Amino acid sequence: MIVRNCNRCGAAITFVRTKKGKAMPCDAQAMPYRVAPGGPVNIMKPDGELVRGYWLESGTGDGVGYRPHWASCRTP
Ligand SMILES: [Zn+2]
Repeated sequence: MIVRNCNRCGAAITFVRTKKGKAMPCDAQAMPYRVAPGGPVNIMKPDGELVRGYWLESGTGDGVGYRPHWASCRTP
């Protein structure tokens, strides 16, 4: 996994290749998640599938995934 710094906000980001072959910038830190149709957040699974659900504070849930960086990017 390649980690680099976002050129807008400087956060550590990585690129996950989607099923369509597009590289999507995501926060570098993977987090545990739970899949929930109609859930509040988009979750990029390591295999490149984007699902809806929510993040977990701890535990394993349905696995670990990446938050698309456009959801958290902010210029300082
Ligand atoms: Zn950013």
